Amino acid sequence: MLDIKGLSAGYGPVVILRDISLGVEPGSITALVGPNGAGKTTLMKTILGLIRANSGSIVYDGADISRSPSHSRVDGGIALVPEGRMVFAALTVEQNLRLGAVVPRAHGGALERLEEIYRQFPRLKERRRQLAGSMSGGEQQMLAIGRSLMAKPRLILLDEPTLGLAPIMVKKVFEIISQLRADGYTVLLSEQNSKLALETADHGYIIENGIVTLSGPAHQLVDDPEVKRRYFGM
Ligand code: ATP
Repeated sequence: MLDIKGLSAGYGPVVILRDISLGVEPGSITALVGPNGAGKTTLMKTILGLIRANSGSIVYDGADISRSPSHSRVDGGIALVPEGRMVFAALTVEQNLRLGAVVPRAHGGALERLEEIYRQFPRLKERRRQLAGSMSGGEQQMLAIGRSLMAKPRLILLDEPTLGLAPIMVKKVFEIISQLRADGYTVLLSEQNSKLALETADHGYIIENGIVTLSGPAHQLVDDPEVKRRYFGM
């Protein structure tokens, strides 16, 4: 579904991503793991078109989108759930969800989708009139994921969804991510919770200093002694 080759990108003259090649299979979970500042967020933003690629290609559904504007990538079904959730704190849960459907792709059937999201996340339904800013971190993450689903995505980019959450909510968020795959979505996940991410994912990429240093089936990476030593502190 997503095929990235030789991608380099950064901020002005500062090059962050260097020669990244990466593939995401439809209906799978692909995990990007690596230390703080490795470039995972930069990669997600480049896939969405918020940062321009300096070189390389990003092929989505067979078409090179690396020069397309961000809005056309969103309209093609790519959604980003940003690091830090970025919910609108002063709006209610339902207002946040409805904002997910403002993109042209999502205009038809938005009400039905809202009901579907409420079935999937009963907690959001219970709290639909509550201000998003007064929800817990885990609930806000659920809301950010629900909001992205309102845009009818096919590929969901999840940037550090468990950051700052209590262990029980971390587990819950990973259950939600597995459920997204079961529902047919394709997920590209960036995580510092490397072990849980690789245990949940189908495929994994380790990113350090803007380059892919290791990749493979996630179950193999989980058992790799070098990965265990460097990323799981074992
Ligand atoms: P984290 O999980 O800590 O966010 P990350 O792997 O997602 O880490 P990025 O956020 O992509 O890493 O950051 C990669 C590098 O890009 C870092 O060195 C960071 O300082 C730099 N960077 C990020 N945003 C900008 C910016 N707007 N201008 C210049 N440099 C930036």
